[in-house]
Amino acid sequence: MNEPLAPESVIAGNRLERRLPDAKPTYADGEAVGEANRCLYCYDAPCVQACPTGIDIPGFIRKIATGNLRGSARTILSANLLGYSCARVCPVEVLCVGACVYNDWHRYPPIQIGRLQRYAVEKMFDAGKAATLLPRAPATGKKVACVGAGPASLAAAGYLALEGVAVTVYEQRALAGGLNTTGVAPYKMHVEGALAEVEFVRSLGVSLRTGVEVGRDVKPADLLRDHDAVFLGVGLGADTRLGIPGEQGAGVVGATAWIERLKLEPGFTFAGIQRVLVVGGGNTTIDAARELARLGVPEVTMVYRRTAAEMPGYAHELELARKEGVRLLERAVPKEFARDGGGRLMALRLADGRELPADLVILGIGQAKLRELVAQFPGVALDEKGFVVVDDATGRTGNPKVFAGGDALGGELVVTAVQEGKRAARAICAALGLTARADAPMLAGHR
Ligand code: SF4
Repeated sequence: MNEPLAPESVIAGNRLERRLPDAKPTYADGEAVGEANRCLYCYDAPCVQACPTGIDIPGFIRKIATGNLRGSARTILSANLLGYSCARVCPVEVLCVGACVYNDWHRYPPIQIGRLQRYAVEKMFDAGKAATLLPRAPATGKKVACVGAGPASLAAAGYLALEGVAVTVYEQRALAGGLNTTGVAPYKMHVEGALAEVEFVRSLGVSLRTGVEVGRDVKPADLLRDHDAVFLGVGLGADTRLGIPGEQGAGVVGATAWIERLKLEPGFTFAGIQRVLVVGGGNTTIDAARELARLGVPEVTMVYRRTAAEMPGYAHELELARKEGVRLLERAVPKEFARDGGGRLMALRLADGRELPADLVILGIGQAKLRELVAQFPGVALDEKGFVVVDDATGRTGNPKVFAGGDALGGELVVTAVQEGKRAARAICAALGLTARADAPMLAGHR
């Protein structure tokens, strides 16, 4: 029996993210068919090569064009079980859409693959038909535990459940979905979308235990004893701090913690905030800055220690942020925070002597690794950066019973996490002697 996802009030409250509308609303039927009919159904399509999960993109687009939405969604989900969230959060500009042959002609825009993918899967979600799309194997008697309920774990769990494996996902938070639920920019996807996808995975027979922390409530040794395999999709920990004077106290917050409050906390507000500095150069930093600007904060400045060209965040996202009024301060190295006598944050001082007035500083400089939890699984090693070491072909760790994927391996994208979950599910099936079915969903796609 599955646990309830969460009290309704957790997601039904007055959440700030609801003030940020969908930047790419779902297609109307006519729009989707019109866009699908522009596709050239390329042989050896470059868009497919650019998709980490190898979705048959021309195949699913052709099915939209011919009115076969059920077949279209099946094509997507067989290669990428989280094809719904990926359609909404993938950086398609540097993946499938960026590879579309239309880009070379500079005459017509590339095919809007993400929006078409969303259209097909959303239609099945809305009609309550997604659970019946993929073929299921009979129960095998095998058991697998997945630690963490982010995209990597959900993908591994869903594919394994379809292969007849009894899967339990353990999640320490009240809500499943990982960063899809707690961290995706609201103008890309709201919490409701992430939870709809979690429900889809549950509908495949996955058991979800939220509010249960492995390492505290459940011992890793017990998981290993009671299951045939364990998948670690544990993600990352708390936001990293700068470690400079004045940092402790109100007004200095971590980016992922702040975005989570924006998305999930009923009644969360930051009224009166006029000047915000967002420190860092990654995509989380850009997301936080864009969210603040869109919510009407007059002065939002990204503070980055190197130049724009060296930023790890996507150039197209930075461009959008600038259009929305976000400023970028390059070669800016924080030295200390200035506070008044009452401890109120006043400014951020830089190493070059400049002083940046601020009401709020958001730190997007990384997240801690979950070393302590990983260390409780014998044989699982970490590399020098603190990421879990796995075999490239299988996702298997140094412990033959333990596999891993997602942020704990150092990836950043939902779609690569899904691919790593799929890779591990395949390898676990092989290790458990489960015969690959000809119609097995996770064998679809070219990878
Ligand atoms: Fe269609 Fe573009 Fe992919 Fe060709 S590259 S199959 S036109 S989406």
